[in-house]
Amino acid sequence: MKGYDPIKLAEKLRPKMIDPENKKVLLAILAGTGQEKDLSKERFFENIFRSKIYTKPEDREFDYFRGEPAAVAALELGVSPEECNAAFLGQINGCNLNCWYCYVDRIANSANHKYGKFFSAEEYLNQFLAERRKFQSSANPDLKLNILRISGGEVFIVPEIIFWMVEAIEKARLENDLYVWVDSNLATGNSYWNHLSAEQRARIEHFRNLGVCVCYKGFDRETFYENTGAAPEFFDEQFRMHRRLVEEGLDVYSYLYPVTSSAKNLRGRLSLFMDRLREEVSEFAPLRMATPPIKVYGPTEKRLTPARKKALENQLEAMKIWKEELQKRYTREQLHMKPHDLPSR
Ligand code: SF4
Repeated sequence: MKGYDPIKLAEKLRPKMIDPENKKVLLAILAGTGQEKDLSKERFFENIFRSKIYTKPEDREFDYFRGEPAAVAALELGVSPEECNAAFLGQINGCNLNCWYCYVDRIANSANHKYGKFFSAEEYLNQFLAERRKFQSSANPDLKLNILRISGGEVFIVPEIIFWMVEAIEKARLENDLYVWVDSNLATGNSYWNHLSAEQRARIEHFRNLGVCVCYKGFDRETFYENTGAAPEFFDEQFRMHRRLVEEGLDVYSYLYPVTSSAKNLRGRLSLFMDRLREEVSEFAPLRMATPPIKVYGPTEKRLTPARKKALENQLEAMKIWKEELQKRYTREQLHMKPHDLPSR
């Protein structure tokens, strides 16, 4: 297993994804991509922004996202969780991983300016506010927008957007009016610390309505390599970055898509991963993690192979094992708590 270095790739992509002088980042234009076809049931704004409905009616009994970010956003904003089931999001155009199951087309995820447009945090926020105004009094809670999500691509290649967004929201005095949800793939090493000053990071830390959602790209070195094509040793890097974000004082949640083409010793491998999370990140990190299934979208379908189809089948067994292993490690009371009720560290 060889693979590329995602941290070096992030630094290579970065100059094409940021305009520091004008405080802008490159967002993906989704019009004309395979992903656009998948958005027919979702709201799609200006060919760039879209809304993501977290729990769709067909998924309600499963609660794949363990109620977040809706529950934490609702708590902070004083509204019902149903009114936080939809997020408004833009996708940073450029990613330093190449996951086969990614729902974004590579052309809109490789800092390709043909499928990108530079946006400032103010412009991003204004677009959110304009769309929010249209349906905020609707009887359908899925049309209400209380969460502004910064997604990708990989946000932490250009972490300045997080600071600029906090700055823009505070300038507009909207800090108690919306919740910010930021995604990361945990494969950018020290980028957050290298590109933001201590003062900027402190402003982010003190911004109350902000959660970071990190996504593990495998549960061992083999699955990390199989999913991303990156060098397997960067699997270990994910725990380090996760821990560092938690130590930074951020409210960090996580995901794992438990796909694997090999079901061999699945319980042992998942148990080891869960215990590493407890030891290297925090005692409650597994309870602050969601394990939703990968769904096959247009761009994913084009990349399917027999091994990947097998990986999709195996994820259901892995999700079952994950729940069983949680039950061995935590009390009934802890298992019933919402992720945001458990300490980050
Ligand atoms: S890290 Fe996320 S955006 Fe990047 S390729 Fe993987 S799934 Fe896609």
